[in-house]
Amino acid sequence: MSPVADYHMHTPLCQHATGEPVEYAAHALKVGLTEIGFSDHSPMRRDDFDNWRMRDSQLDEYVEKVRRAQREFPQLTIKLALEVDFLPGHEEWIRELAARHPWDYFIGSVHYVSESWDVDNPAKLSEWKKRDPWEVWSAYFERLTAAAESGLFEIIGHADLPKKFCFYPKQDCAPLFERFLRAAKKSGVAFELNTSGLRKECKEIYPSPKFVRLAAQHGVPITFGSDSHEPTDVGRDFEAARALAHSAGYTETCRFTQRKRTAIKF
Ligand code: ZN
Ligand code: FE
Ligand code: FE
Ligand code: ZN
Repeated sequence: MSPVADYHMHTPLCQHATGEPVEYAAHALKVGLTEIGFSDHSPMRRDDFDNWRMRDSQLDEYVEKVRRAQREFPQLTIKLALEVDFLPGHEEWIRELAARHPWDYFIGSVHYVSESWDVDNPAKLSEWKKRDPWEVWSAYFERLTAAAESGLFEIIGHADLPKKFCFYPKQDCAPLFERFLRAAKKSGVAFELNTSGLRKECKEIYPSPKFVRLAAQHGVPITFGSDSHEPTDVGRDFEAARALAHSAGYTETCRFTQRKRTAIKF
């Protein structure tokens, strides 16, 4: 059994991560990984959109940092990717980004349920207290389903991110999950088991065991990601993520090269 790849990690260019890609790569080798992928927060068309991503003018610098890690660690497979925010109306911008470098994959993530509220932003926690969780989760999953249908992404990031601060709806979320999963299956997009949830208030991998079981029944492929914002988080809690995937019935994960998927037993 080969180790699974860690396909979700950041760089200091996003303004809230520490450590250079070469340091993430060194830690990956130390914990026995053979493949990783950088997926830093992509620029927006407008640099003043928010303050937690690289500027448009830094995209080439980002690619060069990843290339340097590839040169310095030839024994490790290192993919070039982006974590791209999906917002309605941004599709053309995402296609422009896709054309600028030979990316291995795009992780499509929903952080924004409106133009101004990124639901995982601790600075905007008070917004949650004004809202009905069901309304927020419904809006979030509507966007996540549109992201899956868009054909712009290979992987959908942290699929139940709204649980981060433990604002759970009373209602059963299974219908929201099912609608997303049908769209994901139809468009051939994978989702990630993102272990960073274990380091957040919700203390649970994104997405939940219930979601992962439904996903396995629908036959939606998976990847693994630590969502590291510091080198020592690379590969963190991957045993728990593998166990979750296995218990849901998964025996395969996937790898991406220049946006083409291959399945790997794990
Ligand atoms: Zn981040
Ligand atoms: Fe994210
Ligand atoms: Fe991330
Ligand atoms: Zn992330």
